[in-house]
Amino acid sequence: MSGALAPQDTGGPRRGAVIQRQKAEFMELTHADWQAKAKALSFRTQAYIDGCFVDAISGRTFETINPATGEVLASVAECDAADVDLAVAAARRAFEGGSWSRMDPVARKGVLLKLAELIRAHLEEFALLDTLDMGKPITESYTVDAPGSAHFFQWYAEAIDKLYDEVAPTGPGDLALVRRVPLGVVGAVVPWNFPLDMATWKSAAALAAGNSVVLKPAEQSPLSALLLAELATQAGVPDGVFNVVPGFGHTAGKALGLHMDVDCLAFTGSTATGKRFMEYSGQSNLKQVWPETGGKSPNIVFADCEDLEAAADMAAFGIFFNQGEVCSANSRLYVERSIHDRFLELLKARAEARVPGDPLDPSTVLGAIVDEKQTASIMACVEAGKTSARLVTGGARVTVDGKGCFVAPTIFGDVAQSDALVQEEIFGPVLAVIPFDSEEEVVEMANDSPYGLAASVWTDNLNRAIRMADRLHVGTVSVNTVDALSAQTPFGGMKQSGFGRDLSLHSLDKYTALKTTWIKYKL
Ligand code: NAD
Repeated sequence: MSGALAPQDTGGPRRGAVIQRQKAEFMELTHADWQAKAKALSFRTQAYIDGCFVDAISGRTFETINPATGEVLASVAECDAADVDLAVAAARRAFEGGSWSRMDPVARKGVLLKLAELIRAHLEEFALLDTLDMGKPITESYTVDAPGSAHFFQWYAEAIDKLYDEVAPTGPGDLALVRRVPLGVVGAVVPWNFPLDMATWKSAAALAAGNSVVLKPAEQSPLSALLLAELATQAGVPDGVFNVVPGFGHTAGKALGLHMDVDCLAFTGSTATGKRFMEYSGQSNLKQVWPETGGKSPNIVFADCEDLEAAADMAAFGIFFNQGEVCSANSRLYVERSIHDRFLELLKARAEARVPGDPLDPSTVLGAIVDEKQTASIMACVEAGKTSARLVTGGARVTVDGKGCFVAPTIFGDVAQSDALVQEEIFGPVLAVIPFDSEEEVVEMANDSPYGLAASVWTDNLNRAIRMADRLHVGTVSVNTVDALSAQTPFGGMKQSGFGRDLSLHSLDKYTALKTTWIKYKL
C-alpha cells in the first residue's frame, strides 16, 4: 500500500498497511526460513481456564487443519457447556475478588503494556500460528495482524489512566457521581478471518475496562488465542481474568450466549449468528449483546478521480486482501460509465497478477481460503455467477503445489444490482462490477443492501466526497482509499452489519455500565 507507515508512525496500523521498517527485516527471512520455523513450531492445544491449560472435561478434541496443505496441525480441546461453566465461574471469582477489576488503573496499564511487549517478542510465532491455521499470507500476519495486536493492547493500556468520569450538576447538599464501571464477565465470540486481531479487539478493551473475559475463538483458528492467554498470565493478568475456551459455535459459543452469569457478549461473525446471540440473550439473562456482523461494502469510482491507477490498486486490494475474507471487503465496485471499460482493464491486470501461492512464501499476496467448507461456498457463488453475469477473470478453484483450498481472484462484469453477486456476502476473492451514470443512481444502488458496514468513494471533488459520505448508510466511509481504520476510530456498522463498535474509546462503552452514586452532605 503506497505511503503506508509503521504503526508507531501512524498511531495505528491501517488494515493492509505494510510496515516498512519491519518489512525490511522481514524480507531477510526466505520461504525456506519460514517453512523451517513452521516445522519447529509447537502448539498450545488445551483450553486456558483460571490461569492454567486444561483438557476439555469431556476429554474430546477437534482437529485444526492447515488449509494450504490439508494437513492436521493439532488436536485441540473441544470445550462445551461444562467447560464454559468452569471458565465463567473462574472469571466471576476473579472479578469479585477485585485483583483486576479494582486494580489501580496505573497498575492495570502496566500489565497490559507488558502484554503488548510480550506479543512483540512473539511476532513470528503469532504470525505463523494464524498463517498455518487459516491460510493468510505470512507477509500479512507478520506485518499487519501480529504487530496490530500489540499496538491495540498498548493503545488501550495507555488510555485507561486518562479517562475521567462525571460529577452531575446537582444542588447544594448533594454530590452525584456518574462513573463508568466494568460490567463483570464478558463473553467474546470471534471469527477466523483475523484470529489474533479479532480476539484482541474484544479482549484488549474489555480487560482494560477491568472486566474478566471468556473468549471463544473460531473452531477453524483457535491457536493464536491460546498463546495470547499464556502471555497474558506472564504479563501479570491475574488467574481467571482471561480464559480461552476453544470449541464449536453450537456448543461452546451457544453456552456462552445462554449463560446466566455472563454480563456482556461481544460478537464478531456472520449476521445469522449475530441474530442468534440476540435470541440467546432474550432466552437467558438479558445480557448485553454487541453484534459486529457481515458486510457487502461498495467501492464507488467517479470519473473525476484523477489517479485511476491508484484507485485500481486499491480496488484490487479492497477485494483480494486476506483472500476477500474481510467483513468490510469492497466486494461491490461501482464505476462511472465513462471510465468503466478502462478501469475494468486496469483491475483485471491487477487481479491476474495476484496468483495464489504458499502462504509461507513471503512473496505470496493471495493465500489459502480458510477451509473446504468456505471454499465450496465461494465456488457455489462463482458457479451461479457464471450463469447470471459475465466472468471477466478467475472463476476457478486452484491448487498450489497440487494441494490446498485456493480460489483465483475473480471479477464479474455486467452484473445486475439484484444479482446474488451484489446482494449476498460471499466472503472470498470475488468482485461484482456495475457501471453507473449519476451520483443519485449510485447512492441508491450502494444503499440497496441489507448490510451497512463500510464504503469507499474515489473522487477529486471535495463537495461530492462529503455529500457521498453523508448519504451512504454505513459505519465507515473511506474517501480516496479503502477500508481505512485505526485504533483511534470506531469500527462497526449499520443495518444488518450490526451495531457494536470495536476500537477507539467508544469501544469501552460496551464493556462498562454507567453507575450513579448520590452522596448527601451537611451544609
Ligand atoms: P460465524 O458466525 O459462522 O462464526 C463466528 C463465531 O461464532 C465462531 O466463533 C463460531 O464458532 C461462533 N458460532 C457459530 N455458530 C454459532 C451458534 N449457533 N451459537 C454460538 N456461536 C456460534 O462467522 P465466520 O464464518 O466465522 O466469520 C465470517 C463472518 O464474520 C462474515 O460474515 C464476516 O463479515 C463477519 N465478520 C465481521 C466483522 C465485523 O467487524 N463486522 C469482522 C470480521 C468478520
